[in-house]
Amino acid sequence: MNNKVRQRTRPVLAAELSSEASIFSDDDFGKKRCPPLISNRAWILIFIVYFSVFLGVLYCDVIRFPFPVSVEQLKTSGNARSLQFSEERAKKFVIELSSIGAKPTGSYENEVVAVDYITRQLNYIKSHTKPVNRIEIDIQKPSGCFPLTFKDGMVSCYHDVKNIVAKIGPIKATNKSIVINCHYDSVPTSPGSSDNVVSCAIMLEVLLSLSQHDEPLVNEVIFLFNGAEENILQAAHGFITQHPWAKTAVGFVNMEACGAGGKQMLFQADRERTWLLQAYASGSPFPQGSVVAQDIFQNGLIPSDTDYRIFDHFGGIPGLDFAYVKNGYVYHTKFDVPEAITVGAIQQAG
Ligand SMILES: [Zn+2]
Repeated sequence: MNNKVRQRTRPVLAAELSSEASIFSDDDFGKKRCPPLISNRAWILIFIVYFSVFLGVLYCDVIRFPFPVSVEQLKTSGNARSLQFSEERAKKFVIELSSIGAKPTGSYENEVVAVDYITRQLNYIKSHTKPVNRIEIDIQKPSGCFPLTFKDGMVSCYHDVKNIVAKIGPIKATNKSIVINCHYDSVPTSPGSSDNVVSCAIMLEVLLSLSQHDEPLVNEVIFLFNGAEENILQAAHGFITQHPWAKTAVGFVNMEACGAGGKQMLFQADRERTWLLQAYASGSPFPQGSVVAQDIFQNGLIPSDTDYRIFDHFGGIPGLDFAYVKNGYVYHTKFDVPEAITVGAIQQAG
């Protein structure tokens, strides 16, 4: 029964199919296909253009560094050029501070040798400042405690940690300042050339450059060389909560490293008070930053912290957080030396 039905229906179905098939032309069955919207050649062209743009961005953002300005160039280029930042001069500070060796907080190298070196440089700059501005220098030895609510909930206490603080501004005080921060201490296993001597060297060079201005500065700039960061951010806390100059601070710039060389990258900024960010974007000759880095850092994916948190948390002022992030394998090791700093990396930061 079932076989008969099948036998009868098969020819009918075949006929129906053949009649249905007949309503389509040969073109519909691929003998003459419609041309694709984008040809293979166009795809290849798009890929080449895309890849070229990618390489161009990579070259400009990551590979291309500004040419380091030498001291000789500054001398021969007249007064306007003398206001510029010199990598060669800053590199000298890096080499000399690194030659002290490891500088853990509390050590003779940190508390005496490094303090003496930085203070001597500051006094030299102060003695050569043009008379329209003035520089004040202060050594602070704060003591205090604060809860590490952002870490493990324990309380961190410190006693007589050292801050070397220099303030430059017009003769008549404005009582409005920006704080620029580095730390000169290091972990016991490293001379800390990038973490964080290079930042202190950049600050010395910026101060030297500002001291040669012929016009008075509009506001004050405080250069904070702090001597206890690796002990979990203690000296920055001592400054922002206790130093009298901290009351005038309306913003801050923190410079750090978790690697060596490469470009100094802005990786944290205040999300709402963006005036500092705008000033950096418009005023820096070589701005470099990443919003992805901010998301990664603030979500705790990197088990580290910087003085940015202290200034933000205890100072309540907006800031920018910069770091050298390339070659992370040298971080906190004996390989964090001046030679690991890419040529042009200091000039880019300055
Ligand atoms: Zn550091």
